Formats: sequence, C-alpha cells, structure tokens
Amino acid sequence: MLEQKLNEFFGDEAPTGFGTGWWSGVLSAFFGLLAFGAVLTLHFPGVLSSPELRPYYPMYFMRLLIQAVIVAAIVLGVASAMLRRKKVLALTGLLFSLAATLLGGSSVPINGTLGAGPAIGLDWFLLDMLLMTLIFSPIEVLWPAYPKQSVFRNEWVTDIVYFLSTHLPIQLTSFLILLPATQLTAVLNIASVTAAISHLPWLVQFFLAVVVADVAEYWIHRAFHEVPFLWGFHAIHHSSKALDWIAGSRSHLVDDVVVRAFILVPMMLVFPHNINVAYLFFVTLHATWTHCNFGPTIKWLEPFIIQPRYHHWHHTSQKEAIDKNYAIHFPWIDKLFGTHYLPEDKWPDTYGLNKEDIPAGFWAQFVYPFTRKKAV
Ligand SMILES: [Zn+2]
Ligand SMILES: [Zn+2]
Repeated sequence: MLEQKLNEFFGDEAPTGFGTGWWSGVLSAFFGLLAFGAVLTLHFPGVLSSPELRPYYPMYFMRLLIQAVIVAAIVLGVASAMLRRKKVLALTGLLFSLAATLLGGSSVPINGTLGAGPAIGLDWFLLDMLLMTLIFSPIEVLWPAYPKQSVFRNEWVTDIVYFLSTHLPIQLTSFLILLPATQLTAVLNIASVTAAISHLPWLVQFFLAVVVADVAEYWIHRAFHEVPFLWGFHAIHHSSKALDWIAGSRSHLVDDVVVRAFILVPMMLVFPHNINVAYLFFVTLHATWTHCNFGPTIKWLEPFIIQPRYHHWHHTSQKEAIDKNYAIHFPWIDKLFGTHYLPEDKWPDTYGLNKEDIPAGFWAQFVYPFTRKKAV
C-alpha cells in the first residue's frame, strides 16, 4: 500500500537512464532526507544518537560529511529539476536540504553532557544507510546479475523498514546479542586461550576468527532451516523474490539476534576484542555483498570465498538447491558437511519460498512465526 503510493507519488513513465534526471532526483531526495535526519540528530543527540557509538565519532569529519550531503542534495536537485518533467524528487531533495540548512546545518552545537540512554540509533541508521548505499548501489546499477531488476523492485519499502528495525533499537539489539557471550565469558574463564591466540600474527588470528564464526554460523543457520519452529523465523529472510543489498536486511528480529548472539559466543570466548571488532566490520560488508544484484564473479576464487552467485543459490526457490549453501564466508564449509550446491556459471531463475506463502509487510511478518502453525 505505502509502497504503491510512494511509487506513484515519486515515479513517472519517463525513461530512467543516466541523463534523464531520474538518478539525480533519487539521489537528491535520498541525500536531502539523510541531511535532515543528521541535523535532527545534532539537535537532539541525547535521544537520537547511540551512546555506544558517540565516543568514536570524529565530529569535525562528521560535520564535513553532513555539509557535503546537503550540498549534494541541492546540486543534484537542481540538475534533476532541469532535466526531468516531473519535479517531485528534485523538490523533495531541495526542501529537505533547505530545512536542514535552516535548522542550523552541520554547525549545530552539541550542548551539555549526554547520558547513557535510552536512545534511538538514528545516527547509526543514517550512517550505515549512506555507507551501504555508496558502496553497493553503484555496483548493482553498473554490473547487475539481473539487469531488468530495478533498484525499486517489489517490496523495497518493506526491506527499508527491516533496515530501520535493526538500526533504530541498536541499544536493545546489541544488549541481547551480547548477552549470551558476556554471561558465558564471565563463567568460563579461558583467558589463556585468548592470550595464546593474541601472540599469532594479526592476519592469522583474523582468518581463524572468520573460520570459527562461519562454522558457528553454519550450524545455527542449518538449525534455522531444519527445526520447524525456527524455520518460521528464518522463512522471512527467504521470502524475498528478488535479491539486492537491502534484501539482505530482511530478517526476523529473533533470527537476527539469535544467529548473531551464537556466533559471538565462540568468538568472544577465544579471540581478543580487536579481532572481534574487525570481524564485525568484515561480516557486515561480506554478508551484504553476497545478497547484491551483482553479476561479475572471480571464477578461480569461487571454491575459496563466497561471492554473490553462491548465496543467491541459497535463496532460490528451485528444488535442486533447497537447504544448500549455509555458509556465509567459505564454500568449503558446505562441501565439508555435504550441503554444497553451485552449478557452473548459472544464476537461479526464481527466488523465494517454494512451499509457503508469507504475508506482506513488516508487522505481519513479525507475528508470522508465532501464528504459522494455524496457517499451515
Ligand atoms: Zn537460509
Ligand atoms: Zn541471505
């Protein structure tokens, strides 16, 4: 419903290639909204920024970034207004960037001391959204695996809501994700193992961490496929009928929290803090990339590291590949446990669930696992 309204309000029948004012309009609206959100965060940092992330912000650079986003929204908005008949996208970008500027722009001072919360992670949402879009959207537009698939394909709004739903309550989700690992590390003291590992070269530690994380992920992921009650939650992630970077965020809160929490248990027991932080960066980028609508594959690397084509086969609704490819980093983990499937050079024809119909929309999908028994 909302998606249809948004598509009608912003879209039109005109061509959407480069030079038509479409991309400049989309980007202007996007940057305008980000800038507006960022300036609101500067005004109300106590409520709209994550206490855990605040100490790490280089504020001089963040202010420059906000300024750059405002300027980009204005320049692209003007370009789109000149190039395209329908001006709604351009006007949206211009209005939000104007509002951001009138509210003080990037120079809004941060007054007083900030408490430890509770707070909404709007800062984290805006930053991660900008970063992921800048990294993954260009490669999807330039080198798609499915050229006919639009950036605004069906259910794009639902997936943005999923992205919001994991970023805004970051205080709560990070607490839940860390809970099992922090409890266990307090009980089980195996500091000697961590100390021994921290003497290894950094790259060796990092590689070992990725292996440990992926073996843990493999079995939790497999459990989510094979235990019927757990499958109800994970079916949501598999309900996407088209994959791109944002489709990767479609995941039931329970699925997301449980999987991350149980990967962190062996990680925090064994590896030093800096390795775990590096792994969190790596997994965010790698897991998001494997969902991308990105065609190029480095063939000789396929047996060693997972690329988008591999994880796309995990998401197909074609019978031959159901319950295959559980690993997220190393395909040889699936080979080892007998769940590897990767036909030469082919991409799947269809995506989604092969037996089950999942309701549309975030809240219907949120309750789906709990009411599923009656429905099936
Ligand atoms: Zn799965
Ligand atoms: Zn996936």
